Amino acid sequence: MKTLLQGGLLALPGGAERMDLLMEGERITAIGKNLPAGDAEIIGAAGCTVLPGMIDTHTHFDLPVSGTVTADDFASGTAAAVLGGTTVVLDFATQDKGGTLREAYDVWRGRMGEKIYCDVGLHMAVTDWNARTSAELGGMADLGITSYKFYMAYPNLMAEDDAIYEALCRIREEGGIAGFHCENGRLVTALTAEVKARGRLDPAGHALSRPPAVEAEAIARLLRIARLAGAPVNVVHLSSLEGLRAIRETRAPDQKVYIETCPQYLLLADSLLRAADGAKYVCSPPLRGRADQAALWAALKAGEIFTLGTDHCSFNYKGQKEAGKDDFTKIPNGLPGVEHRLCLIMTEGVAKGRVSLSRLTAALSENPARLFGLYPKKGVLAVGSDADLVLWDPALTHVITAKGQAQRVDYTPYEGFEVSGGVRDVWLRGRRVVAAGSLENTARGKYLRRTFPFADKM
Ligand code: MN
Ligand code: MN
Repeated sequence: MKTLLQGGLLALPGGAERMDLLMEGERITAIGKNLPAGDAEIIGAAGCTVLPGMIDTHTHFDLPVSGTVTADDFASGTAAAVLGGTTVVLDFATQDKGGTLREAYDVWRGRMGEKIYCDVGLHMAVTDWNARTSAELGGMADLGITSYKFYMAYPNLMAEDDAIYEALCRIREEGGIAGFHCENGRLVTALTAEVKARGRLDPAGHALSRPPAVEAEAIARLLRIARLAGAPVNVVHLSSLEGLRAIRETRAPDQKVYIETCPQYLLLADSLLRAADGAKYVCSPPLRGRADQAALWAALKAGEIFTLGTDHCSFNYKGQKEAGKDDFTKIPNGLPGVEHRLCLIMTEGVAKGRVSLSRLTAALSENPARLFGLYPKKGVLAVGSDADLVLWDPALTHVITAKGQAQRVDYTPYEGFEVSGGVRDVWLRGRRVVAAGSLENTARGKYLRRTFPFADKM
């Protein structure tokens, strides 16, 4: 199967250029001006931007949390992803206390099943650091896993400082990368009790129990531990200016610290938590204020923020999040967003001049591919790379609504956001899986075996 995309503005590593792109089989086989069509199917792309398939560094599909489970499973979550221009998601296998990493991998591969609409890789969330876990790490690369996640919050998941240090030393030996949920879990416990004792049980109480200092303290501690261990770290879902300052002030000049943020920390303010339906907006870390948003946009523009993932973790408002509206500790944490990341950043970022198109491409595709061992197979429009492509049509302006979304959840925190353009077509490894905004029925996604960070192997 051959397809020639004609006359689109290609988001190439050196900048955007109007060119043709030829795909054959699963790969990109030529990029240039006036390519001969031969027997290829011709798709007109004039007036549109052609982007490499987007990579979401952070999703939670089919995640059980305290007696309930996320609204999206891998089928609905990957369908929503690909409709929004995301051709790879990286989800999390989570180790059980007392369990092995291999068991977690098997459980999550089982949950993923065969029906996935985009390619899926797994990070390994380590919740029980011990000698057996340490020994098991050496086998993870054979399963395609080279990135790990640790929680510094949540009493049932969190790693203490000694475990963080030992794990970072071990991961450094292997050549992998560890990401950290940076909030001081013990402080959260103390502050939650204090906020509740003051009678603040509404959704805004959740944010009061996890102020920016809780994030900044965990970040500063992590960065010092990582420096002792000589290991790179990835700070996931950075939410606050205070957290950003902690990174700037604590990192050594040569220390490798990667930063991820999410659309919700750029676009949604904490004032939403005080609305009648405030439970919809509860996530951890919580939404922040305008100064935090401005600082994160500036850091994204400057390239200080390396990746932008969604932390998609969808719970319905009715029957799930709403159940905790009078006691914030009972609200399942998390926001849906896997479908809307590209639309939001194209509109609120590129169209409004807050970030360039090349910065968007870096943070949403190329940098994730490099950090998580997928580059240059993924993350770039280049000859030899997988033909994962997004055709962005600026004429497809639309409004984000829960009614119009593919995510299988009963609300969106971006209800009413006007998008200046839209995803017209998406190719996954050379196959057009979204055509004129419609998803084909066949699920063509695959589990991705990843290599080491920055290995840059095809
Ligand atoms: Mn987290
Ligand atoms: Mn998460």
